[in-house]
Amino acid sequence: MTAGGPQAPPASAERGAFHGFVARYRRFLLTTHVNPDGDGLGSEVAMALWLRALGKSVRVLNDSPVPAAFTFLTRHHPIEVFEPELAEQLFDGAEALVVLDTSNRQRIGKLAPVLDRHAMPIAVVDHHVTHANGFGQVNVIEPEASATGEIVYGLIRESGCVLTTEAAESLYVALMTDTGSFRYSNTDSHAHRMAADLLGYGLDPQKIHAQVHSHASAARLRFFGEVLSALELYEGGRVVVLEASAEQFQKHGLAGADTENLVDMPRVVAGVEAVALFSEAEPGKVKVSLRSTGRIVVDQVASRLGGGGHPHAAGVMLRGTRADARSRILPELHRLIAALDEKRPEGGH
Ligand code: AMP
Ligand code: MN
Ligand code: MN
Repeated sequence: MTAGGPQAPPASAERGAFHGFVARYRRFLLTTHVNPDGDGLGSEVAMALWLRALGKSVRVLNDSPVPAAFTFLTRHHPIEVFEPELAEQLFDGAEALVVLDTSNRQRIGKLAPVLDRHAMPIAVVDHHVTHANGFGQVNVIEPEASATGEIVYGLIRESGCVLTTEAAESLYVALMTDTGSFRYSNTDSHAHRMAADLLGYGLDPQKIHAQVHSHASAARLRFFGEVLSALELYEGGRVVVLEASAEQFQKHGLAGADTENLVDMPRVVAGVEAVALFSEAEPGKVKVSLRSTGRIVVDQVASRLGGGGHPHAAGVMLRGTRADARSRILPELHRLIAALDEKRPEGGH
């Protein structure tokens, strides 16, 4: 990426503060949430390339490993995985931390307790509605952005830097994964304009889609098949419930992160308003993933129980059995669906 060129004015005071933050420090550490996705990883790599072009030194450290689908991004910039000694070393060597794609301090996982011991200036760049105050000195939190990558793209453009193909590719991965390849309700004209602009930097969208979507193991597909064949319908077919048990994870040799995209599959069932996945990769810990196909808002269901997310995609980790988790979540979904019926005009269908 090359520095220079005309600078656009920052789109907000917070973005202005972020540019000040970047100018103030030389050695940056970047991170994202546990079980990182295409948006977290793509945003990290694009941000790293940008900061490097500005002459900064940059390291990227995450709680959890890069899934196979995204390892091609690490060719553009290395992404390191938490080890206690490495974390101490990187926190010692950094002047400032940038947290991408989460504004919830706990979601940076094993880095959180290390951060407790290394007080340092923090900037948060995120698009989640939950914890929208942020925990940084600077918080660029824009829930209207389709992806954190969209905010990073805006910041880079404001700085006057010209994107390289590698940076454009990283940003494209961020945008394409968080919008479900431009299908979900967070897809808007900004997202499509950004995608069109990124294509101008010489990336190959077909190749990127193939790289991201050709990494499932046969075991994962069998596991999906098992879980999907047991799907349950509630609320007159408007709510789909999926369950994955610890025995199923074990039988197929899979981990929690392997459920990625599973909860999105029942969206294709006609008439579905919401999908809930109760995933128990470790006995006694139930990861709840919630999706709305656009009419009901599910993030508050998750945030009331300590999780969070977006209006139409949210999650929370609950202790206890899957039955306990269901009894806390399904009545909430029932209420939201019932409210849809009340909103319906007289005589409407
Ligand atoms: P998932 O169901 O894990 O794909 O997550 C859907 C959305 O909710 C993502 O944007 C996550 O960042 C968010 N999310 C999931 N789990 C949590 C959690 N425990 N706390 C806060 N946000 C979460
Ligand atoms: Mn994410
Ligand atoms: Mn995101």
